[in-house]
Amino acid sequence: MTISMRSLPGRRPFLTAALAIVALAGLAAGAITAEPRAKDLFGAKKLPAVAAAQSFGFYSKGCFTGGVALPMDGMNWEVMRPSRNRRWGHPTMIALIEKLSRDAAADGWPGLLIGDISQPRGGPMLTGHASHQIGLDADIWLTPMPDRKLTTQERENVSATLMVDDKTHLVKDRLWKPMHTQLLKRAASYPEVERILVNPGIKKKLCDTVTGDRTWLRKIRPFWGHDYHFHIRIGCQPGSPNCKGQEATPDDDGCGKPLAWWFTEEPWRPNKNPDAPKARDLMTMANLPKQCRFVLDQPDADSAEAVTYRGGGVPIAARAPEPDAPLPPVTGNAAGLPNAVNAFTATPEIGIPLPRRRPPANVGQ
Ligand SMILES: [Zn+2]
Repeated sequence: MTISMRSLPGRRPFLTAALAIVALAGLAAGAITAEPRAKDLFGAKKLPAVAAAQSFGFYSKGCFTGGVALPMDGMNWEVMRPSRNRRWGHPTMIALIEKLSRDAAADGWPGLLIGDISQPRGGPMLTGHASHQIGLDADIWLTPMPDRKLTTQERENVSATLMVDDKTHLVKDRLWKPMHTQLLKRAASYPEVERILVNPGIKKKLCDTVTGDRTWLRKIRPFWGHDYHFHIRIGCQPGSPNCKGQEATPDDDGCGKPLAWWFTEEPWRPNKNPDAPKARDLMTMANLPKQCRFVLDQPDADSAEAVTYRGGGVPIAARAPEPDAPLPPVTGNAAGLPNAVNAFTATPEIGIPLPRRRPPANVGQ
């Protein structure tokens, strides 16, 4: 970071000089400790390291091997913002998204618009999220897929619908439909899904309106943002002994005191230091699990196609690494990708009636 002198007209000379010294000192320090930022190293990777799928570290501090890509289109989904190249995940996550898209379509949701999952090898991102680093997080829009295939340009530019009023932090009632509740309930129904992050207004809407079975509300966690999408987080998967799980959510529905806090002034106080760099902007390889260096150094998969999920519940050859064994060699094709073990368990019945089904004519590839 440098300070532009031209952007500081009218400053008193001594201040300008002082700033110049600070800037020079900063540059000198940068030159001495020229550790590359982990986000630049991981952000530059266009393809995954082909190995058995394995997550290293924590959701906000880690990386992964064996990433597979979610295809740009499926029967019931479309990938948004494709230029970011964040449609990569642990095979279980990718299979789970496919399963959710099918189950949600059967429930009447017109198809999923998929936001960011992970970079090909995970790691901190150049922009945006703190988490999404180990292939086990995915953002899904609360806007249903339209009745036609979006063009690439539309996928980059179409705006999402903000579901929450940013002053009251309450859901906009004219936008919230029973099918939104149904979609979140369906996503929460899978045993792999440990948490679903939503805006506090959305959590409150669910707390206020869900009747009957409320046990799934435990997984719905209020968080800043997440007003146009929800964020699915699955647990550490088999074959990832170095993956750090998150503590379990409390057993209750989370509709009491912890939710009330979000409707006080405290969580919304302006950031006193908005320009302070974020953790992901500062992380070097030294801050990540040591295996992430290995992950970074592995050769690329042959092509994105070779490591794109084939879907339909067709199993991919399983190959889970031994705990603490050295990572397996790169194979260069999809043969070494592990099976999505739990993503095809039977779909439970969910009893919220929904208005309509997607017309069958509009089917992607
Ligand atoms: Zn997210």
